[in-house]
Amino acid sequence: MVIGIIGGGASGMAAAIAAAENPEVQVVLMERQARVGRKLGATGNGRCNLTNLHAAKGGYHGDEAAFAEYAISAFGPEKTLDWFSSLGLFTVAEDSGRVYPYSDQANSVVDVLRFALERENITVKLGYEAEKVKKTASGFRIESKEETVECEKLIVACGGLAGTKLGGTMSGYKFLRGMGHKCTKLRPTLVQLKSGWSGVQGLKGVRCNCHAAIYHNGQLHSESAGELQFTEYGISGPVIFEISRDVCQEKGEWVCRLDFLPEISAEALASELQRRRKTPLSASELLTGILHNRLGRVLSQSAGISQNRKVAELTDYDIQQAVRAVKNFEIGLTEPMGMDSAQVTAGGIFTKEFDDRTMESRIVPGLYACGEVLDIDGDCGGYNLQWAWSSGRLAGLCAGGIK
Ligand SMILES: Cc1cc2nc3c(=O)[nH]c(=O)nc-3n(C[C@H](O)[C@H](O)[C@H](O)COP(=O)(O)OP(=O)(O)OC[C@H]3O[C@@H](n4cnc5c(N)ncnc54)[C@H](O)[C@@H]3O)c2cc1C
Repeated sequence: MVIGIIGGGASGMAAAIAAAENPEVQVVLMERQARVGRKLGATGNGRCNLTNLHAAKGGYHGDEAAFAEYAISAFGPEKTLDWFSSLGLFTVAEDSGRVYPYSDQANSVVDVLRFALERENITVKLGYEAEKVKKTASGFRIESKEETVECEKLIVACGGLAGTKLGGTMSGYKFLRGMGHKCTKLRPTLVQLKSGWSGVQGLKGVRCNCHAAIYHNGQLHSESAGELQFTEYGISGPVIFEISRDVCQEKGEWVCRLDFLPEISAEALASELQRRRKTPLSASELLTGILHNRLGRVLSQSAGISQNRKVAELTDYDIQQAVRAVKNFEIGLTEPMGMDSAQVTAGGIFTKEFDDRTMESRIVPGLYACGEVLDIDGDCGGYNLQWAWSSGRLAGLCAGGIK
């Protein structure tokens, strides 16, 4: 039996290696780029956060988020790490549960998968861009400009639209829609958020720890704590990725409230700033030693404190305003950055049309899908790759008749 897999990314490689466990099966893995796992090699800032030890407890979203449960419980973080260990990858877990290759290089993950693909019953076709997919009487026909592949079973593992420069495409959605499947609205997630606030540019590159809470028309939308980074257009960093899902997708006022000293109470900060009134510091140095210098200056300015005054001249009201700026700073949000800079696509092919126990289509027998092309996205911190491994492996085992 020939199993065709379109997409040599995380889920496609996991599917190929799983299906090939059946020696009777011949796997043909088709990848449009010059090498497999191109996006995988860029994940986690080049370190590849390949799973999260807490992923078995949830952290997945979609119109039917429970669809992810079976695949994740059948092949969760623990089994995934055993599997990677059997492929020769050393890994290390951080206290947060995020797991990285011990080498700290995403390419180590790509390499062990690449080696595992070197089996007699796996053919990897690089530079093969599937253009057309057709259901035939005996299976499927996949056509690229140069070559046609016929297979009895087909796994669509083309990924999502996010990270377009690294290979994100509409292909998978197009192929599955062409065979009768529906797609939900696609949105960028784990993405930077743009702000109209003029102060943002002066803070470009500043990183800080904070508690961030996003409000839509005054209602809490999402919140988290962690590292934030200011960018040319707005705010980014792990804490923003975590709370970026569906921000600015509905009309109305969107703001992000930032507490730059979440572990210090407003009273404690006020008393420290009062103490500073007895020092010769200038107002521009009011928050020196507490926050990043550039951030401190921007916050005290936005508290209405003229920078050429002396701290000793500040009033109780000035101190109150400075505390407010540090502990409750509001930034207006306009929109998320586009799919090219998003890490993940929220939305995708309707999961109701697939069997969560096998990843097989309920519409077209013999057709499977896995990974980001489906309407499942995970939290920041290794959840999305875990979904790729779990769903890819399940699709491969089931298509290969092993499970
Ligand atoms: C910058 C960045 C950093 C990230 N960091 C992390 C992280 O640290 N941890 C984490 O969990 N997640 C991370 N993610 C998300 C994660 O990479 C994806 O969710 C995951 O790779 C999805 O796996 P996939 O197999 O569905 O798709 P992909 O890995 O994108 O693979 C799809 C493959 O299909 C190929 N393809 C598409 N169309 C065709 C076609 N027509 N013919 C042939 N081949 C085709 C593509 O070239 C691609 O290689 C990150 C994403 C980005 C963009």
